[in-house]
Amino acid sequence: MKLNNPGLLCQQALVNGQWCNAQDGKTEAVTNPATGEVIAHVPQLSTTETERAITASQQAQAEWKALTAKQRAGYMQAWATAILEAQEDLAQLMTAEQGKPLAESRGEVAYAASFITWFAEEAKRVDGSVLQAPQATQRLVVIKQPVGVCAAITPWNFPAAMITRKAAPALAAGCSMIVKPAEQTPLTALALGKLAQDAGIPDGVLQIVTGDAAQVGKVLCDSPVVRKLSFTGSTEVGRILMAQCAPTIKKLSLELGGNAPIIVFDDADIDNAVAGIMASKFRNSGQTCVCANRVYVQDGVYDQVMDKLVQQVEKLTVGEGTKPGTTQGPLIDSQAIDKVQQHIADAVSKGAQVVTGGKPHVLGGTFFEPTVVRDVNKTMRFATEETFGPVAPVFRFTTEAEVVQMANDTIFGLAAYFFTRDASRQWRVSEALEYGMVGVNTGLISNEVAPFGGVKQSGLGREGSRYGIEEYLELKYLCIDVS
Ligand code: ADP
Repeated sequence: MKLNNPGLLCQQALVNGQWCNAQDGKTEAVTNPATGEVIAHVPQLSTTETERAITASQQAQAEWKALTAKQRAGYMQAWATAILEAQEDLAQLMTAEQGKPLAESRGEVAYAASFITWFAEEAKRVDGSVLQAPQATQRLVVIKQPVGVCAAITPWNFPAAMITRKAAPALAAGCSMIVKPAEQTPLTALALGKLAQDAGIPDGVLQIVTGDAAQVGKVLCDSPVVRKLSFTGSTEVGRILMAQCAPTIKKLSLELGGNAPIIVFDDADIDNAVAGIMASKFRNSGQTCVCANRVYVQDGVYDQVMDKLVQQVEKLTVGEGTKPGTTQGPLIDSQAIDKVQQHIADAVSKGAQVVTGGKPHVLGGTFFEPTVVRDVNKTMRFATEETFGPVAPVFRFTTEAEVVQMANDTIFGLAAYFFTRDASRQWRVSEALEYGMVGVNTGLISNEVAPFGGVKQSGLGREGSRYGIEEYLELKYLCIDVS
């Protein structure tokens, strides 16, 4: 890993503007999933340092919220600029610890910066209202104020964007933020912290704590000072965190698991539908919570879609993310490979057929062949569980009512996609799908302008967009007697 600015490889945690180690010197290794090589060590902070971060966050927030929105926006713009200037270094760090192809890492850095720019602008538009009072002698006013000290626990699949999508609205609203990045990808997070510091964001406003997620997470959840927790990760861990936040009645934003259906109707533009499946399914080797997990194709076009899909999948290039031309990096770890293999074996044992791929890649390690499985049905694990790997399981359906029922038959409700040229069906199916986000004739839907989030057990709240900042604001009602 060659960095233009070697100072961005940070191997200490950022607490109150200081780069620190764990009190007992404990560290954890960061590994390159493409090579298995240890690339860095970061501190495994204990309860003591986490509590120190909470105290610093409280002190910093008092001053940060007293700034004008325009002043906060200025700091944030400087941070976004610094991130974009360091785009290449951040991409190198990200690919080294996460595995995604460099082109995807560069794209994620730009996406991450876009949340900061967006919310810096939104900071200036936080407003309140004056209500019509029922009494002539009263004036009723609603103002918005920052929630206070916030914490974020983030996953490894988007090491930069999942942090800025939470930290940027928090900072814009006048909150401070403590980030606990995933154990697999702390280096991108620490580099973002360094760039925030370089941009002049005051000490303690944004802190990055590394270490054991369960231990640090428990301290953050238990603290009455932390007023909000924002988490992106599995539904399973989301439930634990929600329970841990109950005693202190914390505000919660949860972006949890998905099990996205992608539906191709007979009347779709088939080439566009196949391009949509490719974009949604194989991005980040299938490791995003909005990746298509279940492909439903209508009878009349089933074989045509299968043929075109297999042709496209066979063009993908598996390899190290740093190698030019790579489109599919490694999976994050060996458990990820195990899960993919179990899902394929389960489907095959129940009558599905692997059409291409289906096994670990000859490159070894955690590389896996891009895979298409046909004749999948609802008795198979593909139907109910998130596979989180480069496998497209293709189901067959006959009617619109049937496929809507199958698509909704899950505890999850994050993203769904469908392809049809029929304008009435576009509205009808969009409204019938029980999902927070729906892509119509497209497999890519995420951007900073749109509200990202799910329904059912996919989570609570929305991130990004003009709605995202509300999650970090409290309403206060003033009743003024003027008699
Ligand atoms: P994934 O399958 O994406 O790894 P997880 O939900 O396991 O999803 O992890 C998402 C984030 O939650 C990571 O930062 C991980 O370290 C953290 N995490 C996992 N278990 C806990 C826990 N018990 N308490 C707090 N954070 C946790």
